[in-house]
Amino acid sequence: MQNIKIALCILAIIPVLGVNVNGQSLDAMIDRDIASWLTTYRNLHMAPELSHREEKTSAFVAGELRKLGFTVTERIGKYQNEQWLGYGIVGVLKNGPGPTVLVRTELDALPVEEKTGLPYTSNVKTKNDLGVEVSVMHACGHDIHMTSFLGTAKMLTELKSRWSGTLVMLGQPAEETGDGANAMLRDNLYTSIPKPDFAIALHDKPELETGKVGYTPGYAMASATSIDIKIRGIGGHGSAPELAKDPIVVAAQVVMALQTIVSRENSPLDPAVVTVGSIHGGTRYNIIPDEVNLQLTVRTYKEEVRKRVLASIERIVKGVVATAGIPEDRAPVIKIAEGTGSTYNEPKLVDRLVVAFKQALGDENVVQMPPMMASEDFGYFSLDHKIPATIFWLGASDPAKVKQSRESGVPLPGLHSALFAPVPEPTLRTGVKAMTSAVLDLMKK
Ligand SMILES: [Zn+2]
Ligand SMILES: [Zn+2]
Repeated sequence: MQNIKIALCILAIIPVLGVNVNGQSLDAMIDRDIASWLTTYRNLHMAPELSHREEKTSAFVAGELRKLGFTVTERIGKYQNEQWLGYGIVGVLKNGPGPTVLVRTELDALPVEEKTGLPYTSNVKTKNDLGVEVSVMHACGHDIHMTSFLGTAKMLTELKSRWSGTLVMLGQPAEETGDGANAMLRDNLYTSIPKPDFAIALHDKPELETGKVGYTPGYAMASATSIDIKIRGIGGHGSAPELAKDPIVVAAQVVMALQTIVSRENSPLDPAVVTVGSIHGGTRYNIIPDEVNLQLTVRTYKEEVRKRVLASIERIVKGVVATAGIPEDRAPVIKIAEGTGSTYNEPKLVDRLVVAFKQALGDENVVQMPPMMASEDFGYFSLDHKIPATIFWLGASDPAKVKQSRESGVPLPGLHSALFAPVPEPTLRTGVKAMTSAVLDLMKK
């Protein structure tokens, strides 16, 4: 009997040790659970909720974490708009001394009408903030992220003997609107849970083959700031411009003058974008309108560059308007929104995780990727770079389609597209394996 017991003990230990040897046992655990994760993924995909409305999604993720033994707090988040409820959730699992590692998933979906034709297509419709009915879709893959996140939580609870520290699994609402991370921090997140020593997230990437992960050291995503500009002139008859101050001509000059910020005022070594995405004014051929409204997005990596670009926009708008002779009481109105900070992947943390990823997935499945000027609010969890943080990319497309797309130059349906359809199984396997390996490395005994 004694010998049998010892043999059974050894058998029980082997798969766990295998995680550190060649990843075999983690693969076996993933094989065992993949069918249930695919069901979770499809269910989440068919029940997307808009930003600020993640009530059922957050309750589901919280419930799953609770079943795994996490101490869960729900309804975290304070928005500036008090009508929105905070649906942030946090699950904490304390497992001895050691670092605190935060793993983030987003919870929200987008107002997009799905056109993938998949059997688990979302048919959800809901009213948006303006009371208009919109279709809703997980067109950014946050359902892939949530499923990988729950799979990772399960793997780590089963592998508790291999790590020591505190695991914080965080579900963030309102990523798409860029205000969810800040809403959670504003609600005293870091005093109600252990403040993390590291923060990690993943995001799926249609341009990358499923089975692979990508990494970008340093600045990976830009800050995004929305700006509304109202240029006020003096309206009049289209036949008598001398009696008016034409805001359309002034707006046109402003749009052109803004182009000199990036090209002439900014260092070429500091990436920045100033885009005028919307311009509206006037009603018909022969009326000079009273005002023209512009909407801009500004993207930068560094905060000092963002501040300088915003100051330049104000100076140029006011200057062009003054040059046109528009009186002071018709000065332009410039509104700068809260915005989203940039994402900085702490290079030492990235280096460390790349080693863990290569061990888990093989060298050929871990690739460096260029930074981009899209944005995401995960960076706020680093408290302005004080906490080492990184987001890594999770390949989501059939390798044959990626190859075809690269050869033809025709891009695959991207994030936020009505046709975005990540390949579920290999993507979820890789997401769970990569994230579990990353946390095990940061908290290894
Ligand atoms: Zn998105
Ligand atoms: Zn996203």
